[in-house]
Amino acid sequence: METILFVAHTEADGLLAKPALEALGATVELAAALGGSPFVVGLYGAQVAPAVDQLANCGAARFLGVAAGEFAQARYATDAAAVEALARAAQASIVVSADTSRVARVLPGVSHRLGGRVDTHVNSIQVEGGVLRITRWFYRQRMVAEVARTQRPWLLALDAGCHAAYQGAPGKAAVELISVALGDSHVRTKVTGTRSPGTTQQTIRPDAKLLFVAGAGWTKKQKDGQTHAKEAEQIILGFLDCSQASLGGSKSLVDLSVEGEAVLGFMSHMNQVGQTGATPRHPKGLSTCCHGEEPHVVGWRFINERRAINLDPNCGWARGKADVLYVADAFEVMRKVNEMLSGKG
Ligand SMILES: Cc1cc2nc3c(=O)[nH]c(=O)nc-3n(C[C@H](O)[C@H](O)[C@H](O)COP(=O)(O)OP(=O)(O)OC[C@H]3O[C@@H](n4cnc5c(N)ncnc54)[C@H](O)[C@@H]3O)c2cc1C
Repeated sequence: METILFVAHTEADGLLAKPALEALGATVELAAALGGSPFVVGLYGAQVAPAVDQLANCGAARFLGVAAGEFAQARYATDAAAVEALARAAQASIVVSADTSRVARVLPGVSHRLGGRVDTHVNSIQVEGGVLRITRWFYRQRMVAEVARTQRPWLLALDAGCHAAYQGAPGKAAVELISVALGDSHVRTKVTGTRSPGTTQQTIRPDAKLLFVAGAGWTKKQKDGQTHAKEAEQIILGFLDCSQASLGGSKSLVDLSVEGEAVLGFMSHMNQVGQTGATPRHPKGLSTCCHGEEPHVVGWRFINERRAINLDPNCGWARGKADVLYVADAFEVMRKVNEMLSGKG
């Protein structure tokens, strides 16, 4: 019989963010698949009471909390101390959490302290014939592995977007508060501020149905021998406004933007899709003015239906990487699409 701990930090409002709720959804399912193994919710942050109420009806056997001002900010020493204390108090054999940058940073260290094993970037947690297995991708989503381990505790960090978020009704539950002794060395590091990429617009929308990818072609000389960067900006922003799609970019385009060329002001490295970029999850993707090179398309692993617009019938998309390739001028196609979406076409 496993004892499962779901562990998460609270946000500034004392509640859990979506990736944590997804990890909880997976935990509830795992507990049921293991024949009703008990599971414990462990929360840490400046305050945990609002999150305990948020999760009151999730079916947890116990709610444990580490609550103090020192646990508000992301900091290795305090986060690791909190997760370790929660795992020990729960006597957990399986620990499930969200693979956010904050959690992924401390989980391997905590695993070492507990004498356990850790797997990050977990995509699914399955039970077959009573055996727990996880899947995760390697080499930038080129290979998938199925992993089972006998070592306990086994700590798992579940990637965002891999499981439906827990959506139970809030209620009231009792929380057992655990005190974690902190010395000066725990609070030496301080977060003094946050820096966001210098974009003028919020263009990354993880929950969007469509990923719209712009490539360097938007900045190249077109058939009239001129570049049309301003028009490219208007067309792309117009489409994002109408469709609420999320914006991705190829490395070439993102590099141009960041190097200060007069291209797309709203594009940053955060938008880059691919081997050295992101692997977003969306039901559909539309690539425009992007060649479809392998190091770019490896980031499309989790885009289910792919379409591309390229002037070149021999581009990478034509070689089995897209479901549909429109050999056409993306300026013309997207201008028309925008007209149709805004009811003018
Ligand atoms: C180790 C390594 C890691 C890399 N990682 C990444 C990564 O993470 N992400 C990434 O994107 N790349 C990555 N790359 C770079 C990648 O190989 C390509 O160089 C890059 O993706 C090319 O970007 P692009 O298609 O936008 O530009 P280009 O190759 O310049 O292609 C522009 C395309 O636009 C088309 N075009 C021009 N005008 C129009 C028009 N009017 N209508 C339609 N089409 C038009 C052209 O036909 C052309 O195909 C990596 C490379 C290496 C070596």
